[in-house]
Amino acid sequence: MTSYPNLLAPLDLGFTTLKNRVLMGSMHTGLEETGDWNRVAEFYAARAKGGVALMVTGGIGPNPEGAVFPDATRMESASDVAHHRVVTARVHDQGSKIAMQILHAGRNAYGPDCVAPSAIKSPISPHAPTALDEVGIEKQIRDIVQAARLAQDAGYDGVEIMGSEGYFLNQFLVTHTNKRDDRWGGSYTNRMRLPVEVVRRVRAAVGAEFILIYRLSMIDLIPNGSSFEEVVHLAQAVEDAGATLINTGIGWHEARIPTIATSVPRAAFAWVTQKLMGKVSIPLITSNRINTPQVAEQVLADGAADMVSMARPMLADPDFVAKAASGAAKMITPCIACNQACLDHTFGGKLTSCLVNPRACHETELLVTPTATPKSIAVVGAGPAGLATAISAAERGHHVTLFEQMRTIGGQLNMARQVPGKEEFHGLVDWFQARIASLPITVHLNTRADVQLMSQYDEVVVATGVTPRDPEIPGQDLPHVLSYIDVLRNKAAVGDRVVIIGAGGIGFDVAEYLLHPSEHTCPASGPDPQEWRTEWGIGDPTQHRSGLLPEGPKPPIPARQITLTQRKAEPLGRGLGKSTGWIHRTKLRRQGVRFVQGAQYREITEAGLIVQIREQSPELLEADTVVLCAGQTSENGLAQALVALGSSPHVIGGADYAGELDAKRAIDQGTRLAAQL
Ligand code: NAP
Ligand code: SF4
Repeated sequence: MTSYPNLLAPLDLGFTTLKNRVLMGSMHTGLEETGDWNRVAEFYAARAKGGVALMVTGGIGPNPEGAVFPDATRMESASDVAHHRVVTARVHDQGSKIAMQILHAGRNAYGPDCVAPSAIKSPISPHAPTALDEVGIEKQIRDIVQAARLAQDAGYDGVEIMGSEGYFLNQFLVTHTNKRDDRWGGSYTNRMRLPVEVVRRVRAAVGAEFILIYRLSMIDLIPNGSSFEEVVHLAQAVEDAGATLINTGIGWHEARIPTIATSVPRAAFAWVTQKLMGKVSIPLITSNRINTPQVAEQVLADGAADMVSMARPMLADPDFVAKAASGAAKMITPCIACNQACLDHTFGGKLTSCLVNPRACHETELLVTPTATPKSIAVVGAGPAGLATAISAAERGHHVTLFEQMRTIGGQLNMARQVPGKEEFHGLVDWFQARIASLPITVHLNTRADVQLMSQYDEVVVATGVTPRDPEIPGQDLPHVLSYIDVLRNKAAVGDRVVIIGAGGIGFDVAEYLLHPSEHTCPASGPDPQEWRTEWGIGDPTQHRSGLLPEGPKPPIPARQITLTQRKAEPLGRGLGKSTGWIHRTKLRRQGVRFVQGAQYREITEAGLIVQIREQSPELLEADTVVLCAGQTSENGLAQALVALGSSPHVIGGADYAGELDAKRAIDQGTRLAAQL
């Protein structure tokens, strides 16, 4: 008997059967835009091989005006079909099914030719859209139908019609974006006409035996979004029009409520999908922050959905399903929902990858293959860089010895996991532990490596990390001045009024940590879902239109009065992740954290920190505790000593370069080095 009877159960769609309940959700990876369709195919084939029943491609535009950005991939012609055939054939060879997502972005498109129901600019696009006339609407329908038919020619098992997240079809549904007074606007019957017509005509074009997924926004989380009655009405109409499955979407992209960030509790919105169960007879798919087989199984066992969509977890581990099925769930590389290498790359115009799995989207280029010449390798430092090197080198057949001066592995990850909202880091450290234990790696904890110890190895990898930068501020030796390590690792006592010097990732993390009472602990299960919903103003959509509480967000009462400072004159938090920085800034602001930019640090006194802001007179920022979060410098003493003796160690991670260090760079660098040793 499997541990995941619901997750691994087949799903009969009538004309075809899905082998389990796992759908790989659509992700824009940027791979299609490389033009290397072999690379695209390898990406999907790896996930197909790993056991996913059905996967959905990234959004493919039906025409230039609807494509997410001007050069985004579209499905418009026979040459497009030929490219996609490479992908579908490779996926079918691995026994999986694949649907192409047709994504018409409407006013969210980044091109100047974008179109929408009404000429209202999207806050997330630089261009105002043109309001479509009757002829224009008919053209959009025809183009979407043509894309579906071409997808069928290309060998896809189905299509997903993107009707949520605030894209084109969703824009017709709500008065927030649809101000029309013709047959496509006004009453809800009119506003839902376009999505339903699209489904009806696509079904007519592709025949009965082709999977048609409609992605339907369950809870818009924007002002004047859909009511729950409207959502149910649409779901039933979409079913009648010929949809095979409904994939439930959560929140418009422009909503100022986090829906997939790491601080969102796991499966935080499954209860919303559950409200639609029983109201339609086709299967429902739920999504958002489902990242372990246990969570997915529970969602299905609770009757919240018929199928579970996981997108980023499939970047983190293409073998997610196979590992779950073979009893090796502990070996699944966990998606920590950081967005650092996936969504933030997409927003930055870079190819997607994954912080915990640098091979994601690099399947044809970053190969970890068995070595013909096993070597003895010492890896010094069991932070993310050292761990990644040790694991990949051992996987290749090298004899790896790992040295760590602390009593546990994990390095800076152990501090990250103390921060409320970063509970996923617990799972990441546990996974590293499990991987290390499963490989023939000799581990020496509590051991400070020195040059003598290193002399017996063929290769030495120095991943000794970073030390806090000394900001050289007069008064910093006073007893009420702490470093972030004192606070996060050593749990030093902190007063009620705090000034934090330095507003990088760690300054923000320390502020978040100190907003909570000292006795607060971060359970691996993450934040309490009800408290989290209250904090962000999320209500029951059956009672509150669009799922917004009328009273708005209600942040928790802060445990301390905090001031966050930096020397740069720019707004604080600019360097945080593109997709998550706004969440950190919003949370802190709402809890009364004072942001000070352009500060010159004069002196720390017993009363606090004296700063001068621009040309103003010096000001005392009163504090019982001052915390130094002024960045970091490389800890590379061992590397220098080895070089001085004529050795050539490999220096990686923070020991190599401390600026802008994060786990993404550390793991990537460690894995790439191990692939070459
Ligand atoms: P950081 O991001 O480089 O920030 C260092 C902060 O210290 C800046 O605010 C900087 O601002 C200030 N600073 C630099 N030199 C200083 C000096 N001599 N005296 C006083 N202040 C000084 O470094 P971090 O916060 O230590 O984070 C380390 C790495 O971990 C970063 O790459 C960060 O992105 C990553 N991280 C990210 C997150 C996240 O995204 N949520 C969380 C944790 C860590 P001024 O120079 O303007 O004063
Ligand atoms: Fe998950 Fe982070 Fe990897 Fe994205 S980069 S898939 S959020 S672990």
